[in-house]
Amino acid sequence: MRFKPSYAPGPTDVRENVRLALAKKTNNTDFDKEFIQYYHEVCQKMGKVMGTTNEVLLLAGEGILALEAACASLTEPGDRVLVLDNGIYGEGFKDFVRMYGGEPVVLSFDYQKSIPVEEVRDFLEKDHDFKYATFVHCDTPTAILNDVSQLSPLLKEYGILTVVDSVAGMVGEPIDVDKNQIDICCGGTQKAISAPVGLAIVSISDDAKKSMNNRKTPIASYYANLQIFNGYIEKGTLPYTMPASTVEALEVALDNILNEGQKAVYDRHAKIAQAVRKSVQDYGLSLFVESGASNTVTAVIIPSEIGALRLQNHIQETYNLYIATSLAQYEDVILRIGHMGENAFTDKVLSVLTVIDNGLRDLGFEGKGNLGQLFLDALREEN
Ligand SMILES: *Cc1c(COP(=O)(O)O)cnc(C)c1O
Repeated sequence: MRFKPSYAPGPTDVRENVRLALAKKTNNTDFDKEFIQYYHEVCQKMGKVMGTTNEVLLLAGEGILALEAACASLTEPGDRVLVLDNGIYGEGFKDFVRMYGGEPVVLSFDYQKSIPVEEVRDFLEKDHDFKYATFVHCDTPTAILNDVSQLSPLLKEYGILTVVDSVAGMVGEPIDVDKNQIDICCGGTQKAISAPVGLAIVSISDDAKKSMNNRKTPIASYYANLQIFNGYIEKGTLPYTMPASTVEALEVALDNILNEGQKAVYDRHAKIAQAVRKSVQDYGLSLFVESGASNTVTAVIIPSEIGALRLQNHIQETYNLYIATSLAQYEDVILRIGHMGENAFTDKVLSVLTVIDNGLRDLGFEGKGNLGQLFLDALREEN
């Protein structure tokens, strides 16, 4: 099957050297000591990119598995869990907490702004009896970025473990797991890492391990139980068969990032994102985010007389390109321009903006200039 080209905030483009790694011959990965050593080394390389010396595990599954595994492994029946909500994924954590018997306390904020740290502080002063708290680094459907460097240490001050969904943040935005004291940091291969879909990433702090070890009840899952990996190196066996080719592909993608330099990767994302945001506004459209826009994705409000879904459909039919709208209540309101990982390059962003410009014009929107050109102008101004 040949798929239509797509341009979305994940899965992102996968570079050729990463795709080629998928074609390598593999062997029996469950018991081969060499593979287990290799798996461990890739986990450590992943940790290096995330800024942590904590244990990192690659789980066979997609990013969502990381979120579920964090909640499954920490939650015991009756545990109070603070769910910080300023986006669709942020709110969604409450379902995982509840599924494993916990009692989510959802603290909701304006979806167009980053989580206000001072309001969280005020709340915690009154109530901090939580086993752990969850929040999202970049909440992709609305393109909002939360300040991990403030939120996570604040929660730790109150002895609350932190679970952070950085699936769509890490690599595009600094995550610095150790510096920011994140207990369980969740990632996925298919966003800014630009590896194939298929592995969920978790880093696990000693505090999180202690909490799991002190459970009074068993973890109510096998696949989402982070403890099934305990001692895998000494035992010389992994709990289930790893997709070895995907692990190899991830390693190549991580090497691509490390070879470019992490600071250079962050700068590339920042430059592209800033130019996208400026060009969209110069063109006459509004951003969904009022403050705290992520450098990995931009959410653009599509005027209701056009509608994001109609624009998406039109572009698919006329220009053979799949572009992303949003989810839930924002599905017909927001168009998302993903510029993370391999998609955060000028040529790719220019071509998608040119298609969006054409699509909008076809549907009667009078943009102020040419969106692609405005993007190039904005990039030039940055230099
Ligand atoms: C993509 C993403 C995930 C993983 O979920 P998908 O099934 O790929 O949508 C989790 N959290 C966030 C914030 C994401 O952007």
